[in-house]
Amino acid sequence: MSKYQPVIGLEIHVQLQTASKLFCACSTEAVSARDVPPNTHICPICTGHPGVLPRPVNKRAVLMAARLALACNCTINPWSDFDRKNYFYADLPKGYQITQHRRPLASGGFIDIPLDDGTKRIQLDHMHLEEDPGKSKQEGGVWLVDMNRCGVPLVEIVSRPELRSASEAVAFVSEFRRIIRYLSVSDGNMEMGNMRCDANVSVNLAGADSYGTKTEIKNLNSFKFLEEAVNWEIDRQIQTVERGDTISQVTIHWDERSGEGHLSREKETEADYRYFREPNLIPVNVTRELVKEAATDLPELPLSRLRRYVQDFDLPVLDAQTLVEEMSTADYFESVVDHFDGPPKRASDWVRNHVLRTLNDASNPYSSLPDLPIGPADLAELLNLIGAGTLSDSLGTNVFEKSMSTGVSPAQIVEEEELSPPADDTLFGNIEAVIAGDPDTVSAVRGGNQKAVGRLIGQAMKLMQGRADANKIRDLLLERIGSD
Ligand SMILES: [Zn+2]
Repeated sequence: MSKYQPVIGLEIHVQLQTASKLFCACSTEAVSARDVPPNTHICPICTGHPGVLPRPVNKRAVLMAARLALACNCTINPWSDFDRKNYFYADLPKGYQITQHRRPLASGGFIDIPLDDGTKRIQLDHMHLEEDPGKSKQEGGVWLVDMNRCGVPLVEIVSRPELRSASEAVAFVSEFRRIIRYLSVSDGNMEMGNMRCDANVSVNLAGADSYGTKTEIKNLNSFKFLEEAVNWEIDRQIQTVERGDTISQVTIHWDERSGEGHLSREKETEADYRYFREPNLIPVNVTRELVKEAATDLPELPLSRLRRYVQDFDLPVLDAQTLVEEMSTADYFESVVDHFDGPPKRASDWVRNHVLRTLNDASNPYSSLPDLPIGPADLAELLNLIGAGTLSDSLGTNVFEKSMSTGVSPAQIVEEEELSPPADDTLFGNIEAVIAGDPDTVSAVRGGNQKAVGRLIGQAMKLMQGRADANKIRDLLLERIGSD
């Protein structure tokens, strides 16, 4: 056991995939598309013109947040309020952000995260709704502000400080990202800023009763940066303590290029934000009916599927992890299993090694699983044909590849190309022809050279364009040569 124990809590912001913003009718398109010109999806409400009032909260955003709260085992509060968080920044035209401070949408909850040695339950403090500020950047010596993002609905989840390493933090964010993608509440694209993460980090002596002073690393926008930044900060704090210095409460901005954090003392306290109730909005009422609607069609979540694939389907954990990463892949795999007579492991191998590989191949024209010409039932049929010996493994692979490149279903290819195995008299005839055509190899086999029989099998397969079952040919050849 090491001398120090790192303690990490995360705050994750997720943009909800609603059509319009949280308190106005402006489109949220600009957050998911790359080529939207700045300041084109704005109105007097989201840009804070004097005298305008927010519209009532976007119901769709409340419904999505409620779905997410249920998936994260939170208690949804029937009543919650909006508050103003006051601060001054160029990309915040109103001078305050509408958020939920005193009474959040949901409280408590937990997310179980998969780790190498099992799962760990991480408790959540709460989940709340708020509006996104805009974006600002420095270019050519001037500050540019894009307000397209102002007012986009965000959900923030705050974890308890229960994570103990950078890799646990990454596992937590990865699992949360899978959940939001399964629920279709957000793309969770960190590079695009759909999902952003702040990490609170402290260290204490192992076994101490209280936590050390925590620092906050702001706006981490990839798993890699999250891991690097948290590890960097743990090391920095340990070195500081080892030197006999004390940790001060600072905010850290991660510099991705240098791989170092920049410390600043701009840490605001709660009082600095002068929170107060947003007077222009009524409380949010999540009724029993709304909770019921949110619970409708909640999909089975990734961790539950992972456990089921390992326990019921006997799949290795790593295989199951690949399959549950995207819900479309997991659905596809389960549908193959439903239609397939053989073991799930074989279906998993084909989905991972053939289907996903094709999908990830940049030269293929299909961008998602539902676009593929081979649906799960088609793949199961192909695997059944291979399993029954009607198609050899290699011929099955050929049919698969041909189907992917032509868009014709495997069953149709098998039928059109008459790929079913040759009739017995054709098989016998070809075997006779191979034996008659290569007396040297035949006598080698007869002389006990077992390897030589492979050459004869190859010749027979060539005559039948690979359509016959190699094992059957071997048996027939040996029987025929032996009986001479
Ligand atoms: Zn607007």
